[in-house]
Amino acid sequence: IKKVGVLTSGGDSPGMNAAIRSVVRTCAYHNIECVGIYRGYQGMIEGDFIEMGARSVHNIINKGGTILKSARSKEFRTPEGRKKAFDELTKVGVDALVIIGGDGSFTGAEIFNQEYGFPVMGIPGTIDNDIYGTSHTLGYDTALNTVVECIDKIRDTASSHNRLFFVEVMGRDAGHIALNAGIGGGAEEILIPEAELGLERLLESLQKSKATGKSSSIVVIAEGDKIGKNVFELKDFVEANLPEYDIRVSVLGHMQRGGAPSCYDRVLASRLGVKAVESLIEGKSNFMVGMLNDEVTLTPLLQAIKGESVIDRELLRVSEIMSI
Ligand code: ATP
Repeated sequence: IKKVGVLTSGGDSPGMNAAIRSVVRTCAYHNIECVGIYRGYQGMIEGDFIEMGARSVHNIINKGGTILKSARSKEFRTPEGRKKAFDELTKVGVDALVIIGGDGSFTGAEIFNQEYGFPVMGIPGTIDNDIYGTSHTLGYDTALNTVVECIDKIRDTASSHNRLFFVEVMGRDAGHIALNAGIGGGAEEILIPEAELGLERLLESLQKSKATGKSSSIVVIAEGDKIGKNVFELKDFVEANLPEYDIRVSVLGHMQRGGAPSCYDRVLASRLGVKAVESLIEGKSNFMVGMLNDEVTLTPLLQAIKGESVIDRELLRVSEIMSI
């Protein structure tokens, strides 16, 4: 290969910039050209490219978001859109792609590869950690730290007023953020889509907490959890059944997607970027690079797309023991 194109696609996450830097510098190290593609697949269709060299990615390892911008592209879902993208890449001589994004972005890459035989490599970038074939996606560790910091702050006010807080965190349909940040933040209860707690058990647990002398509590709720229709309705339900509780709701929202990446995410991004480019140089294609047992691994893109990233059920038990 002679020229690698790199893009970020789907939801942004902290560590994407560090991954772009890694891809660009690994290309420079191996004397391969590198082109940045703005706004994901949409920029690819429109030929929105920038030549990138080792110096063009200085001072970004510490920045959240993505300097290449991200987008969702309806046009890339059509054969006509992908044809335009292929023509634009061919025009500038790009002959391999590194896609930093989630499973939707990988699906696009996989289809593009099927149609044009174009070499593609995926790097998992999403705070949700909902991708098979890696223990960590880029941005997940940073998001966990952000959530724990928020829970710590909420705890201060909760304990001053003897209040119960429902803290809703991101994660899409997965409970990774809620479960891990919940344990790290010392939550009483953690509600995630992968484990059905049930309303009755939640009430019982809260009653038990009160009886054992807890004056304030924090319940962490994954946005994908289905226990209540939403966190505000859940608050109404619990207050109706346990009038002794004064409940406040805090929906953390998009702050979880921003901020400077943690050291873990920076190292992860650097390692995955090197592996992605070097695998392309070795002639490999259609893989996602990931981290398993602290080793950088390759998982076939299709498997990464179709596989399910399961939560560690032992953590549920740990959480239960911790909230005695
Ligand atoms: P996140 O998990 O943060 O949402 P994602 O990569 O899953 O990230 P999507 O919006 O699902 O985000 O996908 C990003 C882009 O990938 C889409 O806007 C589209 O351009 C492309 N894409 C997704 N699915 C397909 C598909 N089936 N065919 C072609 N392109 C696709």
